[in-house]
Amino acid sequence: MGSDEHGGRERPGMSRRAVLKTGAVTGAAAAGSMTMAGAAAAAQPAAGTATAGGQRGGGDWRTSPAGDLILYNGRIHTMDGSGTVASVIAIRGGFVAYVGDSLGAAQRQFTTWPRAIDLRGRMAVPGLIDCHNHVVLMGNRPGHHTPLENAYSIADVQALYAARAAALPPSPNPAASADDFITTIGGFSPSQFKEARLPTLAELDAAVPGHPVYISVGFTGPSVTNTLGKTFFENVAPPVGPVPVGADGSIAAAPFLAPGPTGQATLALRQTLTFDARKRTVRDTMAYAASVGVTTHLDQGAFQAANTPADGSAHEDNYTMHLPFLSVYAEGEQRDVEPADEAIIRLRINYLLWDSDPSIPVATARIQNAFPFFGNDLVRTGAAGEFLADIFHYAGGNTTWMNAALAAARAGWRAEVHSLTATDFQTEIAGFEAVNAQVPISGLRWVVAHVPFITPDYVARLKTIGGGVNLTPYEYFNTAKPGGPPYRMLADSGIPVGLSSDGMQIAPMNPWIHAFYATTGINALGDQINPGQQLTRAEVLEHFTSANRWFLGGQDEELLGTLEAGRLGDVVVLSDDYFAVADEDLRKLHSVLTVLGGRVVHSGGIRYWA
Ligand SMILES: [Zn+2]
Repeated sequence: MGSDEHGGRERPGMSRRAVLKTGAVTGAAAAGSMTMAGAAAAAQPAAGTATAGGQRGGGDWRTSPAGDLILYNGRIHTMDGSGTVASVIAIRGGFVAYVGDSLGAAQRQFTTWPRAIDLRGRMAVPGLIDCHNHVVLMGNRPGHHTPLENAYSIADVQALYAARAAALPPSPNPAASADDFITTIGGFSPSQFKEARLPTLAELDAAVPGHPVYISVGFTGPSVTNTLGKTFFENVAPPVGPVPVGADGSIAAAPFLAPGPTGQATLALRQTLTFDARKRTVRDTMAYAASVGVTTHLDQGAFQAANTPADGSAHEDNYTMHLPFLSVYAEGEQRDVEPADEAIIRLRINYLLWDSDPSIPVATARIQNAFPFFGNDLVRTGAAGEFLADIFHYAGGNTTWMNAALAAARAGWRAEVHSLTATDFQTEIAGFEAVNAQVPISGLRWVVAHVPFITPDYVARLKTIGGGVNLTPYEYFNTAKPGGPPYRMLADSGIPVGLSSDGMQIAPMNPWIHAFYATTGINALGDQINPGQQLTRAEVLEHFTSANRWFLGGQDEELLGTLEAGRLGDVVVLSDDYFAVADEDLRKLHSVLTVLGGRVVHSGGIRYWA
């Protein structure tokens, strides 16, 4: 990225950040997961029009950091429902002011011409919406969390970890400090590596000799560490430690929601987390999200942490885990600078309700004290999801679940629950119907997520009461057949269908991996596990953009998901032609230029850290 891209708005410390980004790019390129060609070209301002954009909205409540920007000479898929592909878009004060084919008409939207960027024929799409993920959990990870979603071999892992280590300051006493750890907790599976296993202690030592390492699969492991990490874990004091570590660095998985070695290790790292460390990981998380083109995230909460080794990667404190995000947003507003080095995403927050008592104290307190759809364009609340009651009481018909569901319905809240098994969607949809018989929910958009096994009769019943389904790709990591979800049947049924990641524990955030799975049915091992249930690429794009507005709801329905005048100016310029690349190259797609509300928040290759 050329220095002119920053328009003279560089801050002290920029040079260090530039080094970090170089490290990220090197690691990613070594991982063979992307192409860098044209990234700089796509971000290059046109001669004579490069002025720093970014006037504030002058008290406009609808937006915070907002910019002025023209993108031209692109193939901009507006997703307006009419198949419009424009070559020029003008974003003024954060909102689309013009979309069409005339650069002159775009410039006439401004009294002073803003920066204009020549897309050189690249394909651009609206910023992608991930309407079911756990980005807040990812932002609270201990250590220097480093996504492994795009690694396809042990060598890729080593290259990415070596680049990460090279970008960190050396540690004076690395086996003593949890904050020196380079970590990956969830979001990947060993089945995506060609060796179909985790790296060993020796392989991690070879890549990262100077920092402790902790790589943990899914919710509860297994996990692996290097020599420095082994020393750390074996010296964790009781009652959390010591953590048993094998000679090969292996740390055994814990049973789900029960204590075990991986739970001990994760807790040992979490116990040292500071607020500043969380904020650092929030920024890293945002940088990664912007680089894969996901600009809006509907977070679906966490299992409520008990701070014991029974906690897994999906546990956090639902009452404090958003605070590091809010702090990063507040700092971004104060600075009022183009956040090119603090890639900003839009966060939407669902509240996970977690009662096991039929008197539903958790749901009652939330519903009485939280405001649905409250906030601003950058961060806004949603409603209930992805649970209405704790995991032992989530099936519909259970008294605790029914009481919470009825409370949500009476409050007029949207609600989302998840279905994982061959039968739970049945009790949930029957539960929705039982609620609807007492309190109509047909206008509230109640959603069942994941639904790998849902059947047409239950789809019809859910559709009748105004529900929708939110489809996630965690089966990509599975070997089970059939893998589901039945994308084709659901899309053809006419029920609202959202696409999302359910990242970042059991699935990757990267939407292009989901696009690969949804359009091919092929899992990480290369096996066809979802025959006859594919979506087209056009459908995948629609369901990650315009169709996902239904799942965001509230004000966002009129603000996001398409590139039309009056909507927020969130644009993703892709590294390659989504409609032309070979199937196996879909997973390598990423953003080379991400614009959020008219501000450039990312350029270049995949960024694993801010
Ligand atoms: Zn989820």
